[in-house]
Amino acid sequence: MNRLSQLGLTAGTLIIMAATGACTRELTFNDAELEIIGTDSTAGIMPLYTVDDPADTSVLNAVSSDLSSEDLKSDYYRILKMRMLATVKDTSNEGVGIAALQVGISKRLVAVQRFDKDGEPFEFYPNIRLLNLSEEKAWGWEGCLSVPGMRDTVLRSKSVVISYIDEKSMVEKRDTVEGFTAVIFQHEIDHLEGILYIERKKL
Ligand SMILES: [Zn+2]
Repeated sequence: MNRLSQLGLTAGTLIIMAATGACTRELTFNDAELEIIGTDSTAGIMPLYTVDDPADTSVLNAVSSDLSSEDLKSDYYRILKMRMLATVKDTSNEGVGIAALQVGISKRLVAVQRFDKDGEPFEFYPNIRLLNLSEEKAWGWEGCLSVPGMRDTVLRSKSVVISYIDEKSMVEKRDTVEGFTAVIFQHEIDHLEGILYIERKKL
């Protein structure tokens, strides 16, 4: 979502079965994704996938998959977060939220600027899902880093309940979010389902 609206391992090489057999851990980034992320933590801004390119659009319309615990512990994940943050904070094209899909990584990961917290920090939410959307809705202006030069109004719930994996404890956490930050969450989670806000208008 853009600022305008405000105003060495290869995939599948490591498979460890837990003793119970209930938990399979493996790195799930595919080779193309590993290449996009790279191994240089100073690489910075990533190219954005936009609707201006038909090949990019087919990526943006795909559904993202969960990150594994192995993904979350990997250097690739750490570098991906640093590079997504650099991309969304790019002063020449600033955003308030970004989904991994927008830089070509088809994983359930979003960064959202928490306007409801002190200092308005960007925070990352792996394996995020919407558990509840309020019946009460409001129209508001949105833009998207993947839809350059456009903005439009979208009807969104005023508050949402989200679930995600805490990357330190690996435990599922929940949060209730309201107001503009709740709109950002709905916009970014839509990306993970392959839905752009300009399509949400038609749903
Ligand atoms: Zn967007």
